[in-house]
Amino acid sequence: MGLLTNRVQRSEIKPGDHIYTYRAVFAYSHHGIYVGGSKVVHFTRVETSSTSSDEQYSLTAECPTFPDCGFRQPNSGVVISCLDCFLRNGSLYCFEYGVIPSVFIAKVRGGTCTTATSDPVETVIHRAMYLLQNGFGNYDVFQNNCEDFALYCKTGLLIVDRQGVGRSGQASSVIGAPVAAILSSPLKFLLPSPVGVATVTAGMYCMGRYATDIGVRSDVIKVPVEDLAVNLGWADNEGGATNVTASTVQLMK
Ligand SMILES: [Zn+2]
Repeated sequence: MGLLTNRVQRSEIKPGDHIYTYRAVFAYSHHGIYVGGSKVVHFTRVETSSTSSDEQYSLTAECPTFPDCGFRQPNSGVVISCLDCFLRNGSLYCFEYGVIPSVFIAKVRGGTCTTATSDPVETVIHRAMYLLQNGFGNYDVFQNNCEDFALYCKTGLLIVDRQGVGRSGQASSVIGAPVAAILSSPLKFLLPSPVGVATVTAGMYCMGRYATDIGVRSDVIKVPVEDLAVNLGWADNEGGATNVTASTVQLMK
């Protein structure tokens, strides 16, 4: 894998790898956990009344290779697909874990690596298969973000914030809280000239992305997959939107 791309061949990926591909000509990426046997477990948005999804998975899609391709539990966004259906002719990339901060900051594109370390392969696959079988109850916990799902399977880490849990991924790494943090930080004294502004802005973008990385954040919690429903307060309330915020406060104590 090079510094600018994590593109890999199919023969290079191993069970438990966090893989992704780009949809719509690099407009966004779609992530999943490779579980072996040409199968990928990934998170897609469940069809609801508010349909403006980036990844509506069609249950009627015909898969020529595997009869159980596209399997999911009712109302669960976790689906298992074959590699072909996951990639949809896109290229295959492998998400990197445990990268050192200098490499992380040098990466041009966000959402391709993290400083967090991956748990053992068996643990990763166990989480993915467990969530496939049990669903989430309240699937909003991952903010409909396939990257959050894959990050959770790999690390067991969930990000806690005032809105609840989730929100690590592609959007917040670019336009998240770091902007506000930067504007009020001592770094603003490094802005003597227009040239300096441009340079510092680019640098701050990288630092901001680093600050939102799941591996360096302080507001992440490690949650065993079996305890996901209980910890987040939806064990007795299947599918309902519940008091994630209240239980989040408890978790942070
Ligand atoms: Zn398929």
